[in-house]
Amino acid sequence: MVEPLRIKKLDETVINRIAAGEVIQRPANALKEMIENSLDAKSTNIQITVKNGGLKYMQIQDNGCGIRKDDFEIVCERFTTSKLKEFEDLNSISTYGFRGEALASISHVAHLTIQSKTTNDKCAYRATFEDGKLKEGPKPTAGNQGTQITVEDLFYNMNVRKRALKSATEEYQKISDVVGKYAIHNAKIGFGLKKFGENNDIRTPPNSTHVDNIRTVYGNTIARELVEFNIENESFKFKAHGFMTNVNYSTKKFTFLLFINHRLVECQSLKKCIDQIYSTYLPKNSHPFMYLSLELNPRNVDVNVHPTKHEVHFLHEDQIVESITTALETKLLGSNNSRMFYTQA
Ligand code: ADP
Ligand code: MG
Repeated sequence: MVEPLRIKKLDETVINRIAAGEVIQRPANALKEMIENSLDAKSTNIQITVKNGGLKYMQIQDNGCGIRKDDFEIVCERFTTSKLKEFEDLNSISTYGFRGEALASISHVAHLTIQSKTTNDKCAYRATFEDGKLKEGPKPTAGNQGTQITVEDLFYNMNVRKRALKSATEEYQKISDVVGKYAIHNAKIGFGLKKFGENNDIRTPPNSTHVDNIRTVYGNTIARELVEFNIENESFKFKAHGFMTNVNYSTKKFTFLLFINHRLVECQSLKKCIDQIYSTYLPKNSHPFMYLSLELNPRNVDVNVHPTKHEVHFLHEDQIVESITTALETKLLGSNNSRMFYTQA
């Protein structure tokens, strides 16, 4: 006979670290959370510096509203947020964040430093955090308006995760993918991404256009073949705006930038149908580029999704997908003869 082992409650730090590891899976998704925080803070300029694919060091500097000195005490506690009060607010929420989990999670799996200055402060304040708690500071320091967040030694306390991650090169690729996509969607906001000590890999000035930034990030071969589209649908209450390549352009892999209510997401049903349209017009096994910003009635998509859940579903999905697909195909055919949209080389 085998004696059962005693059941014991896990240590608080172990629980928190497991939960945090689920929210923060790799450098690129920690960075995505931080970019969204900077956007929520109404920044117009966001600069990112990375060492070793973000595993060693990631820093994001914005010029947004900043964090009050008094809030440093709780900013990294789980479920502390300035964005949501009532559950019902979720129906109308316009910020990316609302659950107060990102910074807390990061502080459980990395060394976290926050420096911030609000307009009312005479100087910036700087503090370090560990396991959801303030460790040192906030100490006064010189600094610009806005917030600078530094994440070092990601997964230093999670060896298995650290080993499971791909190479620094691959992690950097994922980071650059996220930054490029946010830069295109948020064209009014300046973005910069560089490896520590090197020149910028991505640099989009404030007040650029979507097309400017598609050119900067994906190149002129794509940017000069774009067709703009605007779709509005009264019955299903959605709007879609974006750019797609015309039939002169094709490539091996479908690049699909999809934002639903300004969140970067995946939607396989929509992706498949769009790829399907092009299959009639492009050579075999080749695909288009598309940037699509879809705005749905917030009541029809559940924003209360877990931060790591990228694949979304929404109400009336089949009909909405079909209606977008039909409109895009019409547009694509129209662009065959006369180009709807032409960008200079
Ligand atoms: P959430 O975004 O869900 O509120 P986070 O853990 O991402 O949770 O952030 C916690 C809080 O910290 C935010 O609600 C916000 O008040 C503050 N914060 C985080 N990043 C920034 C930033 N870059 N600028 C200003 N405030 C920030
Ligand atoms: Mg957030």
